[in-house]
Amino acid sequence: MSNPQATPLAERLSIVFYGLRNAGKSSLLNSFLGTATAIVSAEPGTTTDPVTRAFELGTLGPVALTDTAGLDDEGELGQLRVQKSREKLSVCDVPVLVTRSDLPPSPLETDLWEELIAKKPAMTLVLTHADLGLHPDKKTWAELRGGVSVNNLTGDGILEFRKLLQKKAALAEREISPLEGLVNENDFLILVTPIDLAAPKGRLILPQVETIRDVLDKDCACLIVKERELKSFYDRLGVKPKLVICDSQVFSKVASDIPEEQPLTSFSIVFARKKGDLGVYLDGIAALESIKPGAKILVLEACAHHQQADDIGTVKIPRLFHQMVQSRAVFEHKREIPDDEELKKYALVVNCAGCMVSRNKMLTRIDKLKELGVPVINYGLFLAWANGLLPRAVLPFPEAEVLVSRLSAKSSTT
Ligand code: SF4
Repeated sequence: MSNPQATPLAERLSIVFYGLRNAGKSSLLNSFLGTATAIVSAEPGTTTDPVTRAFELGTLGPVALTDTAGLDDEGELGQLRVQKSREKLSVCDVPVLVTRSDLPPSPLETDLWEELIAKKPAMTLVLTHADLGLHPDKKTWAELRGGVSVNNLTGDGILEFRKLLQKKAALAEREISPLEGLVNENDFLILVTPIDLAAPKGRLILPQVETIRDVLDKDCACLIVKERELKSFYDRLGVKPKLVICDSQVFSKVASDIPEEQPLTSFSIVFARKKGDLGVYLDGIAALESIKPGAKILVLEACAHHQQADDIGTVKIPRLFHQMVQSRAVFEHKREIPDDEELKKYALVVNCAGCMVSRNKMLTRIDKLKELGVPVINYGLFLAWANGLLPRAVLPFPEAEVLVSRLSAKSSTT
């Protein structure tokens, strides 16, 4: 039997229940899960911070279900809760608007639906409190939006809700697997994984583990070596690898130890594509030429990973940047994206690979930066550029032609 906790939260289909206070979100979550995981009360505003539970959902597999505070919460604290709920909504795959069947649709509910439906085609509507009757205005409103009715007391309608959720989830843009489109069955790869000070003791980091698993899922095989042993093993191979994937920090050594025609990329670039948008990052690379003295650069990481002495975000990237791009650039570091006014002060944002967070979270960041006109790059692409490995490091991807033309077009206009 599969272990529902085995898939990291960031890799699960993210479903968020939202709506007004006392709409029955927590009761619905409990009926849905069949357990008492969320606190249920008739008092409005019982759920304060978003609560996420891992769950297996039929054919959808591993999902993360989140219960949020009411979006009509009041007061200073209430507004903070609303903000947290909205943050969850903006990065989820399937928002579920939970509304009472016995009340007419409120302007806030209508606005929320209209605001999100354009961005989240998987949005789903559920009417709760079916035992209290169906308001005629809510009936018309819900029919137009394909909602289903659930009685939280008896559980009636839960099955229909599950079916609707499975149908809607197919509309959500899902994260691809690391090697999607990069390999075919029976291909052979080399993965170069340095075991240095930055490597966690006794294990591999998530991008390496996920890539190895994907090698197996795609019926391929791989050789896993450290950069020091690569050349010796490579020279003895009887078959040319379809692809070599290395840690970005050993790009230069790996590139010098294998033939120039050998397809090569990095774990960080593989994850930049899985979690973000390679094209936007390449636009950002082209913007490096216009970074001026005193420019503020924001290194934006996505989790509180343990920092090493020669940490990539705080030490290596700034050092290389000062040497190769602009010696008087000023670096700042954050883990959460700042507000719009603060963001506009930066000449460039450098994203980490985002391996621990969802694609939606990274895309939300990228969309915000695009909207504000702030160029954004990523660790792996910057290191590829700094080592003279662009466009080579994006050539293995199926969308390479578009990526390369984008890089060339940008370069010729800057
Ligand atoms: S999410 Fe970002 S900061 Fe956290 S481990 Fe992955 S690359 Fe590093």
